[in-house]
Amino acid sequence: MSSSLDYDVKGHLHAILDSLPAGVRLVAISKFHPAEYIEAAYAEGQRVFGESHEQELARKHEALPKDIEWHFIGHLQTNKVKHIVPYISMIESVDSLKLLREINKQAAKCGRTVNVMLELHIASEATKYGLTPDGCRQLLEDGEWRGMGNVRICGLMAMASNTDDERQIRSEFMQAAALFDEFKQKYFADDDSFCERSWGMSGDWRTAVECRSTMVRVGTAIFGPRVY
Ligand SMILES: *Cc1c(COP(=O)(O)O)cnc(C)c1O
Repeated sequence: MSSSLDYDVKGHLHAILDSLPAGVRLVAISKFHPAEYIEAAYAEGQRVFGESHEQELARKHEALPKDIEWHFIGHLQTNKVKHIVPYISMIESVDSLKLLREINKQAAKCGRTVNVMLELHIASEATKYGLTPDGCRQLLEDGEWRGMGNVRICGLMAMASNTDDERQIRSEFMQAAALFDEFKQKYFADDDSFCERSWGMSGDWRTAVECRSTMVRVGTAIFGPRVY
């Protein structure tokens, strides 16, 4: 399978897996890459993949092995929720109470409890999605989520600024880690499900791991540049 690719997915995948400490999982971000690339990583044992568009994910889910754990990492419109809820393993990008409500509602309809993460906006860019730290505090403090029996909040997802300034990236990840501790203590002290800190991408996953990431989301460094 992998031999038919002109890109060394296998080599790049193992280079990352070999450097990840125990307790940090890899989500291979396969958006915009064809199924063959996913199959090459799958052949090496990788089972967790991330996608950011509902239709692309639907096509790949249909075509690829059913033991793949799909993570949704993109901005999710509420009207798309019903399409992914039947099979999604984790929705990492919950950025509003409205979206959380819709996931809970659709999950109830198909008799599932869906794993989700709250997406934090910690980067300096105005364009990135996610809840501000105060928005996230407010959502948790408000407490409506406690009555949602069909979603399980598993942790926080965050993206650092797109910059070469390593100190800034580190400070953003440390801010996310501090928020994780705050929320863990305040709202999830008795809930073992709230344990994931999803940060780190191709350019900054080593820094993220030093800042207590439990889950890195790496695309380009495994599959090469995306062709949009
Ligand atoms: C695309 C994407 C990634 C992976 O980015 P790379 O730089 O290719 O590793 C990770 N997280 C999110 C939310 C993304 O949209």
